[in-house]
Amino acid sequence: LEILLAEHSGFCFGVKRAIQMAKDASHQNQPIYTIGPLIHNPQMVNDLKEQGILLAEHPEALHDATVIVRSHGISKAEREMLVKNSNRIIDATCPYVCKAQDFVKLLCLEGYAVIIMGDKTHPEVTAMLSYCDENTSVVSNADELPEQTWNKLGVISQTTKNMAALRDLVQKLVPNVKELRLFNTICSATTLRQEATTALAKKSDLMVIIGGHNSSNTRMLAALCAGITETLHVETAVEIGLEQVSAKHSIGLTAGASTPDYLIVDVYNRINELTGDRTSVKSVEDIPVNKEESC
Ligand code: SF4
Repeated sequence: LEILLAEHSGFCFGVKRAIQMAKDASHQNQPIYTIGPLIHNPQMVNDLKEQGILLAEHPEALHDATVIVRSHGISKAEREMLVKNSNRIIDATCPYVCKAQDFVKLLCLEGYAVIIMGDKTHPEVTAMLSYCDENTSVVSNADELPEQTWNKLGVISQTTKNMAALRDLVQKLVPNVKELRLFNTICSATTLRQEATTALAKKSDLMVIIGGHNSSNTRMLAALCAGITETLHVETAVEIGLEQVSAKHSIGLTAGASTPDYLIVDVYNRINELTGDRTSVKSVEDIPVNKEESC
């Protein structure tokens, strides 16, 4: 049995940065709050809780506290509420997410109707929407586009969406729009992870996707793999049973942008243990990586 890890897996730049900022702030010896989970990984959120970084679902409950803004950002109203209640804000919004928010503001300011390709309820999208006017709509793919025409239309994407889906959407729009302005806000970390995962899935009997069930980019990796080979999406190693990994010759591993390294290591060791291989690694750097990216 060969187990390989996709070349680009696990924490992206924006998530690493948010966690580092939260950990630095936690040295202040007072509770630190995040509005919603700092990143979409329940295990990591629990680890942070033990370090005094607590989850606050509603910003109105916070007064005179230290608050970290998650990598996906928060809405305009949430930010205003935090400021009004004299909270100290540490802004860990990913710079790529900030850029997408800036583009959306610009499009609205310049009179474009706006279509956001994304998940309506994802915090990154709800934050973006808070900077838009009523001429903005959210669709998850080209099939959800309304049957209408536009004079001026701007298109933007949630940072973790798929490039092929954005291409389809734009293609479908072209005949119906006089002036179409696209900001390609899909982040390079997302594209690299999707390409590396697809390449590995093509040569694997089974792909194990590690990451939060609430993580949009992890679910996207799972959806891509499911179209290619047998796929299993797990948050932790204990979810993997012998029946899923026995009789396989090649297993590929990949992890979403908010999955910590130790969960990847646990999964690798678990599969080896279940299949009777005594090899066990301590760090993600010790897991063999699939270097060939062919797509
Ligand atoms: S996936 Fe990209 S946009 Fe999202 S947090 Fe990571 S680096 Fe930032």
